[in-house]
Parts: sequence; C-alpha cells; structure tokens
Amino acid sequence: MLYRLKTDLRLSVITLLGISALLGITPFAIMRFAQGNAIAGLVDLTIMLAILSAMTYAWVTGDTARSGFFMAIVAASGAVAVGAVVGEPGLFWLYPVLVTSFFLTEARYAIFINVAAVVALMVHGVAFSSSVQMWSFATTAFVVSACAFAFAHRNEDQRERLEHLATVDPLTGVKNRRSMDEELAIATSMAARNGISQGLVLLDIDFFKQVNDEYGHSVGDEVLKELVNLLQKNVRRSDQLFRFGGEEFVLLMPGVEQVGLRAVMHNLQEIIRRFLRHPGGPVTASFGVAVLKPDESPEDWFGRADGALYRAKETGRDRVVYSEDLPEVANVQSAV
Ligand code: GH3
Ligand code: MG
Ligand code: MG
Repeated sequence: MLYRLKTDLRLSVITLLGISALLGITPFAIMRFAQGNAIAGLVDLTIMLAILSAMTYAWVTGDTARSGFFMAIVAASGAVAVGAVVGEPGLFWLYPVLVTSFFLTEARYAIFINVAAVVALMVHGVAFSSSVQMWSFATTAFVVSACAFAFAHRNEDQRERLEHLATVDPLTGVKNRRSMDEELAIATSMAARNGISQGLVLLDIDFFKQVNDEYGHSVGDEVLKELVNLLQKNVRRSDQLFRFGGEEFVLLMPGVEQVGLRAVMHNLQEIIRRFLRHPGGPVTASFGVAVLKPDESPEDWFGRADGALYRAKETGRDRVVYSEDLPEVANVQSAV
C-alpha cells in the first residue's frame, strides 16, 4: 500500500484529497446542519461522499485517470457550490481545488475545469462584495493555476525522463531487462486470455570477450550497436527487443507459430553471419528459442529458452536451438 502511494503521484493526491475531505469537510457539514443551513450541509455531504467513492474506486481498480478526472470535477463543482451557497468564505475552497486539479487529471482538462469554476463563480457573482474583489479573485486564481500547471508539468516531464532511464539501455537504446520482465509477464497473461502464440529468443554473441580483448571495448560497443541495428531492421514492429545483459539479447515475438519462427530465425542468423563484423572478420551469435506453452509461467518459459541457448553454445555456437527439439529432461535440467 505504501509502495503504491510512493510510486503513484496521482493516487497519493487522490488519497490526500480523500482524507482531507473526510477530516476537513465533516466538521463543516456538522456545523452547517447544526446552524440549520441544510442546503450547505447537504452540499458538503455530497462532495465528501463523491470524493470518498472516487478514492475507493482508484484504490480498488487502479484506474487513477478516471477517478482523478472525476475527483477534479467533483472538487471544483463542490467549491463553486459552496461559494454560491455560503458566499465569500466559500471562495477560499477554490484555491486548493485549482492546485490539485493539475495533479488529479491531464493539464488540458485541469485548465478547462479551473477556468469553468472561476467563471461560474464570477457569473453567479453573489460571493463577491465588490467588482474589485471579484477581479482580484480572478487574477489570483489565474496566478495559482499557472504556478500549479508549471509545477505539475515539470514533475511529469521528470517522471517520464526517469522512467526512460530506468527502462532503456543507454548504449543500444533498446529496452532493458527490467522492461523485459514486465513484458514477459504481459505476454504470458495475454496468451492465456486470447491464445496468441508467443515466441521467445535468447541471443548471445559468440566469443565476444575476444573482440573486446583484441580490438578494445569501444569496438565491442560498436558491434553491440550494429547487432541491435540489424535485429531491429529485420524483425516485425510488433516484436520487442531487450538487452538482457552484456552481450545477451532477448526477442519477444507475438503471433508467431513454430514454422514461421524457424524461417525468421534462419533469416536472422544469416543476416548476422553476413553483416555483423569486427575489424578482423565476422561475428556470430548463438540462439535459444522457446514457444510459450499453455499455462506456462514466464520463469519456466525463459528457463527453456535459456536451456536451448546453453545447448547451442555447448554444441559449437553459431546455431539456433529450439527448446521444443530438446528431450524433456534437458529442458528440466537447464531450467534449474
Ligand atoms: P561465449 O561464446 O561463450 O558467449 O563467449 P563470450 O566471450 O561471448 O562470453 P563471456 O561471457 O565470456 O564474455 C562476455 C563479454 O561481454 C565480457 C564483457 O567484457 C563483454 N561485455 C559485456 N558488456 C559489454 C559492453 O557493454 N560493451 C562491451 N564492449 N563489452 C561488453
Ligand atoms: Mg554471455
Ligand atoms: Mg557470448
């Protein structure tokens, strides 16, 4: 629970608003009922219930986009309603709403919601004691919204950059092992749901240490980049390439059957043999391939591809080995 709050800013703002609504609005609701202002009390109660249900929805479904949008609208309409019913004191509620809307929903919706709320209060006009006060309110509301927008925008920008750094390999620009773990889990659950076949290929460059030792690390780096370039040019757009580590790569190929997969692998192997080079000659690679079995876990599936790669290395390198061609015992042994 704490992890979700830490990693999901929108969920934490939704929760913060939910708790604030409970703690902050309840006393006002009670007070207004006690003072006999039933309409204001009902407005408070409705806002509170709507915010609490949006918070519960966000926690249960994880759909913070929808609940955040809903909450931004509820909070803004609530603030407008309070301003309209209780007059001037109600105006103060709009300021936190103007700020939080940018953290609850997309900037374009937040701008629209904020402008609509301010304009609604101005058109209604009752909450303001003078036109100077009304225009001061409009100006300060604009300044608060602009600052919140700038801050939220910067925050989103940095989140995207961090996510990129955490999921992409800086040398080759392909996704890293962390992304691969997520995508393998997605692929297995997709296959279970819609029966789309999934091919997994582990690729390891042969004798890569020698390339580094003889020609230097930067030449090795160029070979890695060229390998990625060749692979990306020769696989489908729906295929995903990951750098698993060092000189090992993983290809995830959805919607490919055994026969098609063998043709693709033959082609890839030929392309690498012909075009991947270091200054002293060609560079080859070994491949381990496994097609996802029904109800197989990502770990077992990966283990089978790894076992096939191991066998490809063991039997001479520069070859493609299919887990499906190995005896059951070899798969079990290599997967552990
Ligand atoms: P094998 O055929 O058995 O796979 O032999 P190998 O030499 O390819 O395998 P080994 O695991 O012994 O060596 C892998 C080498 O990959 C060692 C390491 O220096 C190199 N390597 C790992 N990451 C990078 C990198 O980012 N850049 C470069 N240039 N080399 C790397
Ligand atoms: Mg290796
Ligand atoms: Mg190697």
